[in-house]
Amino acid sequence: MRASLIVHGGAGNIPENAAADFRRGVRAGLEAGWEVLSQGGAAIDAVEAAIVALEEDPALDAGVGSHLNRDGHVQLDAILMDGVTLKAGAVAAVERIRNPIRLARMVLEKSEHMMLVGAGAEQFATEHGLRLCDPEKLVTDSARQEWRKTRTKRATKEAVAQEPCGTVGAVAMDERGNLVAGTSTGGTRGKHPGRVGDSPLIGCGCYADSKAGGISCTGYGEGIMKIVMAKMAADLLRDPRVLPAHRKKRGPATIAQAVADACIRILERRAHATGGLILMDREGRPAAAYSTPRMAYGYVDPSGRFVIVP
Ligand code: ASP
Repeated sequence: MRASLIVHGGAGNIPENAAADFRRGVRAGLEAGWEVLSQGGAAIDAVEAAIVALEEDPALDAGVGSHLNRDGHVQLDAILMDGVTLKAGAVAAVERIRNPIRLARMVLEKSEHMMLVGAGAEQFATEHGLRLCDPEKLVTDSARQEWRKTRTKRATKEAVAQEPCGTVGAVAMDERGNLVAGTSTGGTRGKHPGRVGDSPLIGCGCYADSKAGGISCTGYGEGIMKIVMAKMAADLLRDPRVLPAHRKKRGPATIAQAVADACIRILERRAHATGGLILMDREGRPAAAYSTPRMAYGYVDPSGRFVIVP
């Protein structure tokens, strides 16, 4: 089986002058993940490596550089899901974890639970040798400046509506056909403390099933949760016969693309929300769709070349 990788750096109103930063982040994610896969490594290592690289990019809303919540703190969410076992590891509202995707993997591999939040998740990190970081190290100057501008409730609503996002995610398939997906985010700007969106919720911001496909979502979490978008995409990939008929007749080239398009249409029509998703079918064919002005994503084409959007 040929290895395959797709990553994203979020869907939203990415301004023209920030597009290069998002591209740089996506490239770093692809490079980190592809280094693992191209040497015959495991999909789980590739997704973790790609997402760590994306979390480390200060332009993206994950790890360092995340949006601040209403109280001026970073609270991070992440999930990693194994498509073979259907086991996921997720963490939410953690404040002292530099790379939450690493902690999500620890939950996946070392816990009998699937999701840990807040102080308990950080306790689990310490118990398993992951060092806690100073929360201030996750805050960039530009995130702090944005926060100052959006401190009033009205301004916060406006900022969320403008949706410059930057959630990150990756889906990989390795040579053995193992499929893994992951998502990591700082959530929405100016969110209420304790708010958790779609990103770390199994089936909402992420899903992987090696008999169907892998998915990572981004966008307005409260809308994505309503339609359980990642699981919806997996179900459509498993049985594309239920795709809206017109998509099959004169729709996009691949079923994977038709599924991605259908999910975004349902997100708009049924949940009145905007967003995007990347996915990969069980043969490793990648696709992406979004309804926001832009989405930053990239994949490795069959010749090994990186294709990066925008
Ligand atoms: N989906 C994320 C959340 O609602 C935000 C994003 O993707 O930009 O937390």
